Amino acid sequence: MPAQVISGKILSKEMREKMANEVLEYQSKGYRLPHLVVILVGDNPASKSYVSGKEKACMEIGIKSTIIRLEESTTEEEVLALVNKINLDDDIDGLLVQLPLPKHISEDKVINTISIDKDVDGFHPLNVAKLHLGEECLKPCTPKGIITMLKSANIEISGKEAVVVGRSNIVGKPVAQLLLDNNATVTICHSRTKDLKEVCRRADILVAAIGKPRFITSDMIKEGAVVIDVGVNRLENGKLCGDVCYDDMLDIASYITPVPGGVGPMTITTLLENTLEIYKAKVIK
Ligand code: NDP
Repeated sequence: MPAQVISGKILSKEMREKMANEVLEYQSKGYRLPHLVVILVGDNPASKSYVSGKEKACMEIGIKSTIIRLEESTTEEEVLALVNKINLDDDIDGLLVQLPLPKHISEDKVINTISIDKDVDGFHPLNVAKLHLGEECLKPCTPKGIITMLKSANIEISGKEAVVVGRSNIVGKPVAQLLLDNNATVTICHSRTKDLKEVCRRADILVAAIGKPRFITSDMIKEGAVVIDVGVNRLENGKLCGDVCYDDMLDIASYITPVPGGVGPMTITTLLENTLEIYKAKVIK
């Protein structure tokens, strides 16, 4: 049987419709709108496009979004002062600072300054620590979105062999933790992993977060594996492709996520979900 496609686009649409209704309901009860602030420093084209995608998604479901666009030359002190000001503003629920920041601004310092209660990206070290301790926290959007996708397709995670290729702080490590929390047996691979192919072939669930176009080939997965492709790579012809040889997997995998239209839209949907989560905890009585 050909692999079933887990469409992040379709799932996102369903989730966003539900969230839009929820926001309408709160509004009708007299509550203020949920409010997300995004700080964008400089004019990195990819960052600009990500930020406008987030702005559009907020608009779609009725979350108020404020995009603060700052010049490339903005100093670290100015960014930190702005973050501190937003932290104190009770009418703002979520804050994210679009990465990467210009070289003269320390990303660590900026992320450390965001209030952990407004940290919609779940990047603050205290949220990271809580995630790894299994405590209630704001979870990073891409990994959380991946778990939502697996669950939406009724894929059993418990007891399964999960292999994550990639060990970044924003995808690889947290998705491994979330899979572990769901009782998978997890292996994390990286550029120094020996016999990557053999390790990947053990996977019931394979998550590819590498950043190399079509790196995972069909001989690296076992029959019936669930393949989650996080990679977003721009080809020379301008098209996007994932880290997985999608077409070749279709006859082998049981489930697969496409690129585009897979994990990407779910990342933004989870950002909306996190913003609503903060808002509800704070505003809804
Ligand atoms: P990073 O560059 O931070 O991490 C890549 C990881 O891949 C590293 O751990 C690296 O290993 C590993 N790796 C690189 N080469 C190999 C190899 N030959 N064999 C095994 N492992 C290898 O990337 P990110 O985690 O930030 O992103 C990964 C991909 O996901 C990118 O394409 C990115 O654009 C995409 N992405 C998509 C998102 C979405 O919403 N769809 C969100 C975030 C990212 P090592 O640590 O040893 O260097």
